Amino acid sequence: MDQGAAAREILPEATSPQTAAPPAGDPLLPVTLGELQELQASFAKDRDWDQFHSPRNLLLALVGEVGELSELFQWRGEVPRGLPGWTPPEREHLGEELADVLLYLVRLADVCGVDLGRAALRKLEKNAQKYPVDACRGSSQKYTAYQEAEAEGSKS
Ligand SMILES: [Mg+2]
Repeated sequence: MDQGAAAREILPEATSPQTAAPPAGDPLLPVTLGELQELQASFAKDRDWDQFHSPRNLLLALVGEVGELSELFQWRGEVPRGLPGWTPPEREHLGEELADVLLYLVRLADVCGVDLGRAALRKLEKNAQKYPVDACRGSSQKYTAYQEAEAEGSKS
């Protein structure tokens, strides 16, 4: 299913080109993960699609959407931040694919009983502990490199 189409049906004004600011006065913006979860759940319920939304099916749909997102970057070489040179339709397409990924991720978390917002906050906290600013500032090394260096330092 095209989650972009689903989102357009639910949030018709929220699918304007991604280069533009959110429509002024849209009562649905800014939107929370919980609100997206509720919109997704009611979208599926209205269509009797809960029967298809098993964790496995949603995971595979999510991976498919990640593939569609990847296609937008395929063969372009390194793409600078801000996407200079991308046309408005390309940017809109990017927004749709990013939304597809987010919507399936939110739905997958919901049917698995995972509080995605809480899990993300916990993960950020864990990452902050794994990557202390003093040890990793300006470095792209994995956290294990810092742990090994620290262990080596404590031996001497
Ligand atoms: Mg898609």
